Amino acid sequence: MDSVEVNLAEAVFYNSVDPIIIADLRGRILSINRSMEDLLGYSGKDLYDTPIYDLLNSGGESGLIPTLMQDGRVDNQRIRCCRKDGTTLEVKMTASLLRDRHGLPRGIIAILEEATNEIQAEDRIREYISQMKDYVRQVENLNTLKDLFTDILRHDIINPVTVIKNVSTALLADDAITNAEDRKLKVELIKKNVARIEKIIENATLYGKLESMGKLPLYGEDLWLILDRARGNVAWMAEEKNIEIFFHRHGNAEAEVNPLLEDAFANLFSNAVKYSPRESRVDVRIIDEGESWLVDVADHGDGIPDEFKEAIFERFERGGRNGVKGSGLGLAIVKRIVELHLGEVWVEDNSPRGSLFRVRIPKSP
Ligand code: ADP
Repeated sequence: MDSVEVNLAEAVFYNSVDPIIIADLRGRILSINRSMEDLLGYSGKDLYDTPIYDLLNSGGESGLIPTLMQDGRVDNQRIRCCRKDGTTLEVKMTASLLRDRHGLPRGIIAILEEATNEIQAEDRIREYISQMKDYVRQVENLNTLKDLFTDILRHDIINPVTVIKNVSTALLADDAITNAEDRKLKVELIKKNVARIEKIIENATLYGKLESMGKLPLYGEDLWLILDRARGNVAWMAEEKNIEIFFHRHGNAEAEVNPLLEDAFANLFSNAVKYSPRESRVDVRIIDEGESWLVDVADHGDGIPDEFKEAIFERFERGGRNGVKGSGLGLAIVKRIVELHLGEVWVEDNSPRGSLFRVRIPKSP
C-alpha cells in the first residue's frame, strides 16, 4: 500500500461507526478506533500492548486466538467487556485474522456490537419460557390431582358412604332393630366408616400437598423417637388385634429429617397391623449403613406377591388378595415423603413369612 492508501485505511478504521480493536497474534492490543474509545472510555494509548483478554472476557488465552487460528473467524460471540469506569458491557464480537499479502496471519481484528438490550431481551424470553414451562407443569400437576381426587370420590368414598346410608336406614326402620346389642353394632359400623372417609380425605390432602413440595426443611432428630411417635399413632389398631410393634433398639439413630417422616412410618405400621394375623408381632430394626440408616419393618402377614412389590407404591395399585382395601394412597405417601428425604423405600419377603418394608434415610441428605 502507498502512503495515501495507508492514510485512507487508517481514516476508515479510526472513523468507522463500529467499535474495532486491532491486536497482534499474541493478543496484545495495537490500536482501537474512536467508536471503541467512546464505548469503553479508554483511549488508544491507555490500551496499547494490553492483553485483549483483559478487556474482553473471551475465554482467556486459550480462547480467542487458538479459535481464530483454527477456524479463521469468530461470529457473534457473546462476551462481556470491561469499561474504564469499572462497569461491564454485554457485546457481540465478530473477529477474524488479519493476513498480509502472502496470506500469512499477522494480527487480529475484532468488531464489537453493543448488545445489552438484545441480550437482556433474550434473557427475558428465556426466563419467560422457563416460567411458562413451570406453569404448564403446575397445570399438569393440578390436572393429575383433580383426576386423583375425582377417582377417590368415585371409588373410595362411595363404599363407606353406601354402608353408612344402608345401616342408618336400617336403624331408622324400627323392626330391623332386634336388640340393644344389634343397635350398638350398627352404630359402630357407621363410626368405622366415617373414620374411613376421614382417613381417605386426610391422605388425599396430604398427598396433594406432598406432590407440590419440592423440598422439606430438615431438623436433627433420633429416628427412634420418630418411630415411637408413629407407633403411638397406631397403638389403638395394634391393641385391637393384640399385635405388638416391637423395637429392637440399640443406641440412637440421629438423622436430619422432617416431622412428616412420622406419617410415613405410621403408614407402614398401620399396614403391618392391618395385614397381619391377630396376636402376631411386627419387628422394627435400624441398621447403620454408614452414610444412611436402614429402617426395617417386618410383619408376619400374607406378604406381597412379587408382581405387586413395585406397583403398591404407586397410587391406586392394590395388591391384596382380598381385592380392594383402603384408598391405595398410603404407600404412595410413604414413597413421596422418603424421596423428599433423598431416601428409598421398597418391600421384600420377610422370613419365614410376611412382608419386610425397608426405608433407607440418609443421615444428612
Ligand atoms: P391401602 O392399604 O389403603 O390399600 P396402601 O398404599 O397403604 O393402601 O397399600 C397398598 C396395598 O399394598 C394394599 O392394598 C395392600 O394390598 C398392600 N400392602 C401394603 N402393606 C402391606 C403389608 N404389610 N402386608 C401385605 N400387603 C400390604
